[in-house]
Amino acid sequence: MLGGLIYFREGLKMIINEEKILGLIECRNAPDRKELLSILNRAERLCGLEPEEVVKLLNVTEPEQLSLIYERADSVKKRVFGERVVLFAPLYLSNHCVNSCMYCGFRSPNRELPRKRLNEKEIVEEARALEEMGFKRLLLVVGEDPLADVDYLVKAIRAIYRETDIRIVHLNAPPMDVSALRELKKAGYGVFQVFQETYHRPTYEHLHPAGPKSNYMWRITAMDRALSAGFEDVGIGALLGLYDYRFDVLATVMHSAYLYRNYGTHAHTISIPRIRPAKGALLTQKRLEQYRVTDEELKKITAIYRLSVPTAGVVVSTREGARLRRELLRVGASQMSAGSRTDPGGYRQGGKTLEQFSTDDKRGLLEVMLDIMEEGRLPSLCATCYRVGRVGSRFTSITSQGLMKGFCQANAIITLKEYMLDRELNGLKGLFDEALQRALEEIKEERVKRYVVEKLRELEEGRRDLYL
Ligand code: SAM
Ligand code: SF4
Repeated sequence: MLGGLIYFREGLKMIINEEKILGLIECRNAPDRKELLSILNRAERLCGLEPEEVVKLLNVTEPEQLSLIYERADSVKKRVFGERVVLFAPLYLSNHCVNSCMYCGFRSPNRELPRKRLNEKEIVEEARALEEMGFKRLLLVVGEDPLADVDYLVKAIRAIYRETDIRIVHLNAPPMDVSALRELKKAGYGVFQVFQETYHRPTYEHLHPAGPKSNYMWRITAMDRALSAGFEDVGIGALLGLYDYRFDVLATVMHSAYLYRNYGTHAHTISIPRIRPAKGALLTQKRLEQYRVTDEELKKITAIYRLSVPTAGVVVSTREGARLRRELLRVGASQMSAGSRTDPGGYRQGGKTLEQFSTDDKRGLLEVMLDIMEEGRLPSLCATCYRVGRVGSRFTSITSQGLMKGFCQANAIITLKEYMLDRELNGLKGLFDEALQRALEEIKEERVKRYVVEKLRELEEGRRDLYL
């Protein structure tokens, strides 16, 4: 028993060092200007930040200092991925769940929630609905549903690849064992994503009182199994608002550093989900207030993830409203969902009764794209890296040398053009053309520019699915 406990503690310490985090967050001193600039200058070199530096940034509250952090995060984002913002949509397959997470509408004791698991035909219909909107990249999402097992998830992805033009499918699912993950990877899933919710073990155990999810160690080691099973890209994140965000941000950065040390790849994505109201959830108002993450704090967290793990896609969901999402894009976020439904079947059937939580930004893909272009940025429907092997340690290495943005810019232009050609844009075509032209002019290398111009011509002639 004692041996098990020691093993548990030591195993955990390798991934995140709880004691160290607790020690670091005790200090609430913000850096002075000189120290802040020195941290930001280091981050500019795309080498990431040490936990001691991360906590210093977390302690900043003064508006002028925050502005410096935001500016630098935006500059790092541009050096790593250029102006592009990758767009995707979640596709909920099942809201059955055997767990009891206190914050989630899908929790098994919630008898008010009608349950639904999509069959293959319905999955394809949902994927088609998203394809018609213009998406090429989907994230499948499931509750911990014993009947949404590996076979089901393999059939789902095969049907989507077979019946639609969706180009890459990622997965947000409960932790699994290596053999199950191997099957999923073989079937063609891109990124395997599991949020730790909170890295603070006592809080985790309190909020997950029953079901397989109550096992903290099984969850925090999910990525080790995914990487051992052949997944090269994994996505992590803490559900912000469950515990002191300073603890969870530090732990998330440590988790990514651990993956890099052990597997040569940082987390491919870091998500920044913030707790939303959910029918049937059990979190008390007092608790929600205690750990509430304000909009300004969410901006700071986004910027800190960008500076600490520069190669990661920092992912913003529609849990946040349009105005804040715009601001998050200015401080380091690089990926966004759009038009999301959190109920299985929601894209075809609508209705709110089956949903996990309510979203805030209800705009569709087109509106979000227009907004991104108005900001001077570039919407991207690219799904290339996973299909050409720019994944895992290769992705981390190319990206940390600042070499990815050339690919990103070219592929954003190509996929934007494809989007334009495949739908009626009526009076909006001019705006798209303008953004495209501007992006093309920004390409510095003549050889790449010529390649992209050639691909645009091929698209005009009817070819599709082109990339660099
Ligand atoms: N069931 C799987 C799990 O828990 O890992 C994966 C799917 S679950 C639907 C996806 C994520 O939704 C969870 O990891 C959690 O972070 C998030 N979530 C749950 N309840 C939420 C809420 N009320 N507000 C915002 N996000 C929530
Ligand atoms: Fe189930 Fe995931 Fe919701 Fe927990 S967060 S109740 S595991 S769907």
